[in-house]
Amino acid sequence: MAETTQSQQFEYKAEMQQLLHLIVNSLYTNQEIFLRELISNASDALNKARIRQLTDHSEGDKEDLQITITVDEEANTLSIEDTGIGMTRDDLINRLGTVASSGTLAFIEEQKAAGKKVDADMIGKFGVGFYSAFMVADKIEIETLPAGEKAESLNWSSDGAGTYSISPGTRSDHGTNVKLHLKEDAKDFATELRVRSIIRKYSNFVDFPIILGSEQANTIKALWRKRKDDITDEERNEFYKFLTGDYSEPIGHLHLQIEGLVSFGALLFIPSQPTGPFFQEENRRGLHLYCSGVFVRDDAQELLPDYLQFVKGVVDTDDLPLNVSREVTQKSPAAQRIRSTLTNKILGLLKDWTSDNEELYNKFFGNFGGILKAGFWSDYDRRDELLEFMRYYSTHSNGRSLTALKDYVERMPEDQENIYYLLSDSLESARTSPHLEVFARKGIEVLLLPDPVDTLTLPNMADFEGKSFKSITGTDLDLGDDTEEVSLPDDDTDTLLKLFRVQLGERIQDVAASRRLVDSAATLVTAKDGMDPQMERMMKSMNPDYEGAKKVLEVNVEHPLMKNILALNSEKKQSSLVEEAIEQVYEGALLMDGNLSEPSAFVARMTRILVDATNTN
Ligand code: ADP
Repeated sequence: MAETTQSQQFEYKAEMQQLLHLIVNSLYTNQEIFLRELISNASDALNKARIRQLTDHSEGDKEDLQITITVDEEANTLSIEDTGIGMTRDDLINRLGTVASSGTLAFIEEQKAAGKKVDADMIGKFGVGFYSAFMVADKIEIETLPAGEKAESLNWSSDGAGTYSISPGTRSDHGTNVKLHLKEDAKDFATELRVRSIIRKYSNFVDFPIILGSEQANTIKALWRKRKDDITDEERNEFYKFLTGDYSEPIGHLHLQIEGLVSFGALLFIPSQPTGPFFQEENRRGLHLYCSGVFVRDDAQELLPDYLQFVKGVVDTDDLPLNVSREVTQKSPAAQRIRSTLTNKILGLLKDWTSDNEELYNKFFGNFGGILKAGFWSDYDRRDELLEFMRYYSTHSNGRSLTALKDYVERMPEDQENIYYLLSDSLESARTSPHLEVFARKGIEVLLLPDPVDTLTLPNMADFEGKSFKSITGTDLDLGDDTEEVSLPDDDTDTLLKLFRVQLGERIQDVAASRRLVDSAATLVTAKDGMDPQMERMMKSMNPDYEGAKKVLEVNVEHPLMKNILALNSEKKQSSLVEEAIEQVYEGALLMDGNLSEPSAFVARMTRILVDATNTN
């Protein structure tokens, strides 16, 4: 854009216009948060100016970095002024005038369509905080001067409808003044009383003085630098809310002052629930890094391993340089030491919960257990340690509650050598799996694992406290002697197995008489060294052409169905019914494993059999 001495009009992009329309017309609850957003923008701009001052010595002496808020009841205006980094023409057009997150509009419209209230508080999370001011203002004017030589002072103004204009300004100090012309029904925000209470509520911890009237309105700075005993729970929780924008109180915190090879202070929090989708870019914010008391970034997640990314808070260290990129920080020995100390401390806190406060730990695990499991891949050295933090469903409670491996092992009879588990796609199908029958009869506990992450991790885990993990769907189940069963004469068993072998042919690896079934007629088991059916299911869902390894069909020779099949076969009459019954048994077993790809043939066959069975002639 060529420089001009004239005022220039710009049109908002279509999406921005729609968004503005929504902001102006549908956000009524929590309107006061606009001030938090504007103060937060001012504070960001001040942080940038401070880093610039500290790293670029040509800037001269330290200047006053502060926010000044002025109200004018008569004119019904409210101004927020900062001595920060200011905005260039490009900033005004491409940063201020553009929706950062394309999901914003869709999200708000979805909420509206669903008849849900759209809370103004949601706005800030989408990177359009500035525009929330149009909830209360019908016109906004900005005067800004960016820091640096040859900077151009600019005025920006808009009424929040279709357009904004930019014209040359007269500001002489770098920084920005945002002046709101308040709507008639928002007069309240032109009073010091109201403004002061909003600052106390949302912006008390802002790192720069906020001057209102003749006083500083925010009171508390650098909470983490205070002595632990000098902070109240309430202050700490408020600080957490300020940092994260979360409404709920955190369920735990750590206040650290570490002196050693690296020295740092930290105030960390464990939220009561996930604050957003994990492992996604938008959710990377949450760990604020200060170097020597100066704010650097609010997304210093590289100071935590991936499986502890849910932890939020502040780390303040003198041992990292100010102007250094994430990539460099990540590799620096100081950052690595901080990461390993934080990991130890956080796991230490969680460990205390497992022994002193089971209820709290279980609540934590319900929310964050899935993320902790990521550590099995990324932090190989801590695999054994992480296993202690896992909680699994188990037949001990009939799959109703979670158990620690330690407790499973404690309940094991002395001669049991394995920790048995069953992978499945849902808790319900695990609970009713035929594979469990013999375990139920023998009173052996089995872990039920419906979480796909477990399918990918547990089979690779060596052992826990010397007990190895063993899937119960394999052929190599050795549960000791089982002489009490198998009453079918050997010849009959052979005939039966042969019938199945002939009928099923190449589709299976073999047929065997089962020792694990009690009520079910048959089940598929994994041949030695084969893949667990649940793993196979997952592979198939990722690649429809994937062909799993062949299975062994185990049949329950005790089952009345098997006796009937044998009888039918010896009468040499309805051979087609024998074949259909065998097909049905086989596909039924596939179905139970979630691996029946064409249910239509199964249902058609079942219908034919039912027609025969219900025929009264
Ligand atoms: P967000 O702050 O989430 O990025 P905003 O709509 O509030 O979204 O602001 C958009 C951008 O405008 C900011 O990222 C920043 O670049 C710029 N900006 C807003 N207010 C100021 C200010 N007071 N000083 C400097 N830049 C600002």
